[in-house]
Formats: sequence, structure tokens, C-alpha cells
Amino acid sequence: MFASDLPLSRTVTDRAADLRGDEDLLPALLDDATTRVLLVSGGRVVTRRRGRRPALALYTPQEAALRAPSSSLAERWAFLGYDDADRLPGVAPGENRPDGPAYLAHHVPEGAPSALPAGDEWTALREVGGELSARDAGLATAAVALYEWHVRYPRCPRCGAETQPVSSGWVRRCPVDGSDHYPRTDPAVIMAVVDEADRLLLANSSAWPTHRFSTLAGFVEPGESVEHAIRREAREETSVVVGEVEYRGSQPWPFPASLMLGFRARALSTDIAVDGDELRAARWFDRDTLRAEVEQGSVVLPPGTSIARALIEDWYGGPLPTDPLRDGWSRGAVPPADRAAPSDQAASSGRSTPADGADRPDDEQPAAPLPATRRQGRRAAPAPVDEGPLGTR
Ligand SMILES: [Zn+2]
Repeated sequence: MFASDLPLSRTVTDRAADLRGDEDLLPALLDDATTRVLLVSGGRVVTRRRGRRPALALYTPQEAALRAPSSSLAERWAFLGYDDADRLPGVAPGENRPDGPAYLAHHVPEGAPSALPAGDEWTALREVGGELSARDAGLATAAVALYEWHVRYPRCPRCGAETQPVSSGWVRRCPVDGSDHYPRTDPAVIMAVVDEADRLLLANSSAWPTHRFSTLAGFVEPGESVEHAIRREAREETSVVVGEVEYRGSQPWPFPASLMLGFRARALSTDIAVDGDELRAARWFDRDTLRAEVEQGSVVLPPGTSIARALIEDWYGGPLPTDPLRDGWSRGAVPPADRAAPSDQAASSGRSTPADGADRPDDEQPAAPLPATRRQGRRAAPAPVDEGPLGTR
């Protein structure tokens, strides 16, 4: 229930990955007037109002090409899948899923001209994701994730040559050494740490205004299990020792490439010590205190699109007031155009999560977290984000 309700985890589209390798697929779908195309650019998609809710603006291939002209078919179009209940294993009931058209994403480089019909507008997925239908949320999330990767990884990591999209937009191939490169997704843990008194641990990132609080989170490091990452991050950020962890659900967070793995985690200690670098403060909240502070505006929680919010409300037992002072959690987030340059180096040094320490833990010890030793230098200063104190880069 928890996982299927997460805004960006919803989908009803069959990705039909087995069809991507057909070189004739994209040309055929571009010639098919029933094909539906969404426009994507830097974390944004084009939406229009349908009643009170926004919906993806879907165009025919001809309309999309006119709205956002592009010189390269391979570079700018990707196959997202089909509406087809027969092909789709187990999806949430209640969605209208007619046998339907193929969906393509058409990428519009940031800053490139696009002439949208009246009423259609570019909208940030992180702001609108929760209001979209399951079909639209799934399509938009896939398109944003895919093109964040294309834009950030245009070159071969082996030889540096510019790679070309193949497999209907899902692989980049090096023309020099023939190597194939696949879209990357970076796993991150995000956890509601709860103590014996059933209080919830929330933290304020140094990159945020002082009243914003969210759950702990951080990237999983190479060679590390998610359970270990949870214990390591909690210890690094707050000195709180975490024991048992329980998986609650996951949500893609393609800003640009995270997969947030959500957990409830049991604290074995309650003394808090933040480093003052990545985190400015961390506090234990009981339910009454949290609700009162949210109503006063002295605490602002993450927005409804985030898994952080879902984890907090999962612990709380129901909805909490949404941003009563209209603080606008995501306001001030780094605009897409200002993000890191498209290279492996920039992408990795741009990891900006307060949870992003560089410890080198010893062997895994599931129920007995390791002492905080051998801390190493932190990475670059965090940028404002709207997922956990860590969620995005
Ligand atoms: Zn190469």
C-alpha cells in the first residue's frame, strides 16, 4: 500500500523493453498518427489542465516535431512503452487502461525554443508528480530519468568519444570501441528512524532554512548493502545507532538519478550529535510535538511528492498539515540549467547530500553498528534539495 501510493512510483505503462532493440521501431512509431509524444526537458514535462488536475500534454509525432524541432532523430526521441493491459504484469486496479498507443518521449534541450499551444506549459515533475494520473506519472518519471542520463553522460567512459543513442533511446553506444552504456540509477536509502518511545528522528540540513526538517537519507556506497548504508548514514549524521530496519517501499527520484529506498529503522541509542557541516540540527519528535510545530510553521516538512513525506506520515499515522505558511519547500531548489556539467567527474563530485559521507566501514555487522571511526573528508557542500536531508544532487 505504502509503495503503490508513492507519487512517482505509480505506473500503468508496459515498457515493452523487448521491442527496444528493433531499429525500425522508432521510425515506424514516428509515422504512426496514434503514437503519443510527451515533451521533456531538464526535469520538466509539458502539462495542461484537465479539470482541476494537470495531465501530460500528449502530441502526435508531427505535432511534437513542430512544437520542438530537432535535428537528430536518434538523439531526441525515446520509446517509453505501450498502454496494453495484456502485456502488463500486476498493476494497481482502477486505472483506465485501454489497449492503447505507443508513447514516445521527445527531448527538448534546455534553452531550445518550443512553441506550445495555449494552455500547455512546462512543469517541474517534482512539483506536479503527485497530481498526475498513474499513467502520466509513470511516463513522465521515466522520460525525465532517461533524459537526465542522456544529458549528463554524452561520452564514452572508456575513451571519451561522443556516444550515440541506440535501442530506442535506452542505450548509448561508443562509435570508436563499440562499448554499450546503460542509464544509471543511484540507490539511496531514506529512513524514518524511531526510538523506543516511538519518537521520530528528523534533521535539518545545513543547506536549508532552519525550519525545514526531514528524515535521514544518503547514497548507498559501492560494495555496501542498503542495511549497512542506513546504519552508517545514521551514525555519521547524528551519532544515533540503528538496529533493525524494515523496508517500506521505493520511489524513483530522477533529479537526476536517484532511486529512494524507504525504511523504518529502530534506534538503539538516542543521544544526538550532528557534525554541523551537512546537518545543522537533528531532533526527536513525538507526534503531538511534530503536529504542533508544523501547524505553527516552526517545522516545515517535505512536499507530498517525496518519499520522505510518506515515511513521516506512515509513522505519524495519517496526513500532516501541508506547508501551512506556504513556505514552498522546493522554492529555491537549483534550477535545471544551473546543475552540474555533463561529465562523470562533475556528476560524482556534485553529490551534495548531507548524508553523503565517505566512511569506509569494516565488515558488515547487521545488528551491531560500527563505531564511528576513520571518518574521511566530506564531499562538496550540499545544494538545496526537496527530498530527505539528502535526497537529490
Ligand atoms: Zn569509447
